[in-house]
Amino acid sequence: MTAKIIDGKAIAQEVRNEVKEKVTKRVAAGKPMPGLATVLVGERVDSAAYVRMKQKACADLGMTSFHHPLPADISQDDLEKLIKELNADPKVNGILVQLPLPSHLDEERVLQLISIEKDVDGFSPINIGRLAQKGREPLFVPCTPYGTIYLLKKAGVEISGANAVVLGRSNIVGMPAALLLVKENATVTIVHSRTKNIEEVVRNADIIIAAIGMMEFVRGDWVKPGAAIIDVGINEKPDATKKRGYRLVGDVNYEEAAEVAGFITPVPGGVGPMTIAMLMANTLRAAEIQQD
Ligand code: NAP
Repeated sequence: MTAKIIDGKAIAQEVRNEVKEKVTKRVAAGKPMPGLATVLVGERVDSAAYVRMKQKACADLGMTSFHHPLPADISQDDLEKLIKELNADPKVNGILVQLPLPSHLDEERVLQLISIEKDVDGFSPINIGRLAQKGREPLFVPCTPYGTIYLLKKAGVEISGANAVVLGRSNIVGMPAALLLVKENATVTIVHSRTKNIEEVVRNADIIIAAIGMMEFVRGDWVKPGAAIIDVGINEKPDATKKRGYRLVGDVNYEEAAEVAGFITPVPGGVGPMTIAMLMANTLRAAEIQQD
């Protein structure tokens, strides 16, 4: 194996420690605890687990969380009413609506309604628009792409001038990751389900961000020697030796790619822990914007 492993768990812990230290100082100086409102519609098991992790992170770092579990059949009007109340509540610095929402709800309208100063997920069109424009800065960068770029920088990977490929163009991961890389002066190619000759595109990349949700899709012989790989994918691979019957793997064939790459993130323990750490950093930033 040649690749240096980028330890997302350890780097996320560093981010959390920094956030906790800043929160402690703010509270000691008489400022209110930063507050995050979490909105969970319905009873999806995975969404509920993510929200619990976010609430726990708030508690660990000295922030308050306000949880709003809502029935799966809530109306658009009632959900919008709650968002407006949270926008107006000074104790709430950040608003997180756990996605996906049930299909009868208009996700776009809900995200647009969140006050830009409280948009700690960074999904509002204004934040994404600012990310895409030269000379403008978003107030918040979406947490998973933010964590992705943070890992590259922490590992000392040179982004400026690099050829980067982002596999996936979702609103949540792929597209904002590509926009961030452009802001960092990389030359970026975005790969999606209609892209031809994906292997060739990947072979040219110094930086590979994989976010397509396809198990071990990127093979070792697609990887340029020395390339940096950030694997965002989370997939369940059947494994009879595990109690659950599966283990988590990424969108990159780790064993193969680690033989060729210069840097690689493991799954789990790579990007995953960064997402919540960056949400906490964004929530602190929201409190600073609103209270300082
Ligand atoms: P998504 O919304 O389903 O988007 C998938 C993207 O991959 C789309 O742009 C799609 O192209 C592209 N794609 C699908 N099949 C492809 C193929 N065969 N070849 C090339 N491109 C293909 O997924 P997402 O929400 O971005 O999530 C991606 C992965 O990241 C998932 O495994 C998810 O679990 C994981 N994830 C991890 C974290 C974390 O914290 N670590 C956070 C979020 C997501 P089209 O646009 O053409 O359809």
